[in-house]
Amino acid sequence: VRRQASAFGVFLLSRAFRASLALQFLESFHSNSNFSPSDIMSRYRGRFAPSPTGRLHRGSLVAAMGSWLDARAHDGVWLVRIEDVDPPRDIPGAAEDILRVLARLGLASDEPVVWQSTRDDAYEKALDRLREKGLLYGCACSRKEILARDAELGLPAGVYPGTCRNGTGGRPARALRFRLPDRTLGFTDRLCGHFEQNLPLEAGDVVMKRADGLWAYQLACIVDDVASGVTDVVRGADLLDNTPRQIALIEALDAPVPRYLHLPLVLNDRKEKLSKQQGAVPLDETNLLGELEFAWTHLGFAPLGADSIPAFWRAAVPLWRERFAKEADHG
Ligand code: GLU
Repeated sequence: VRRQASAFGVFLLSRAFRASLALQFLESFHSNSNFSPSDIMSRYRGRFAPSPTGRLHRGSLVAAMGSWLDARAHDGVWLVRIEDVDPPRDIPGAAEDILRVLARLGLASDEPVVWQSTRDDAYEKALDRLREKGLLYGCACSRKEILARDAELGLPAGVYPGTCRNGTGGRPARALRFRLPDRTLGFTDRLCGHFEQNLPLEAGDVVMKRADGLWAYQLACIVDDVASGVTDVVRGADLLDNTPRQIALIEALDAPVPRYLHLPLVLNDRKEKLSKQQGAVPLDETNLLGELEFAWTHLGFAPLGADSIPAFWRAAVPLWRERFAKEADHG
């Protein structure tokens, strides 16, 4: 079915396709099942999407833990996706190391791990779709030009000022940008509450393909969330202010918008967010249980004092459910 579908059809169909499989499956059990097809079609699907730019640290563990617990608390599916679309930043062996440590923590993807480096066709098709809708344009601006224009217009540094929206004036295009709608876009985060941005003034048209020819994080992340049928995004609060532009992209791709839960960041002594790229201290593998307790208390829970990793997870799931999964909004 997938191979014969038209270019973008493949991408859009995946969710509907799975739903129809679920439906067929359910119909065969219909007479003696308590589930209705809508239970499965709206079944929770979450993900953890590390970039292989270094080893797992306490900040990444918070995101892995939150996304895994939230999936388990909703009886949902948890996926791992390796965001290896940035070879200059990726570190050889880092992805395998991340998966190894996740396995030691008892965290394994419920479906085959998605490697973004294998997903060029899907990203290409999404670009075609945006192009057909008139939502993609070539941009000739250098970073220096963007910053200079931002200063002139009083825009925050780095917000694309729209210079090439109506053409590059004959200059060669360097990057491809997604044309954001001229409006304020808001959403309700499950932890942070209402968050909104004026897209042109606070985000600016988003790069989809970079000047160096690489896929931009924003495109790859959204195309894969949509293709995997992700219903719930649980990740660090550093991405909260990326969410409105990501929702605009999801809407442009005619896909359903997931729910969001942005978790408090772990900061270092200098009050900076831990970052793999900047060499944050990796998890202490001689004391992974201690690392789990650290992440857990960072999320505002009382220490569990579990005596093993499996016991830790067994104790954590019901507490997470009580705090974050009371709302019966999934089915
Ligand atoms: N790959 C991103 C990171 O490692 C996370 C992307 C996401 O969760 O949307 O920070």
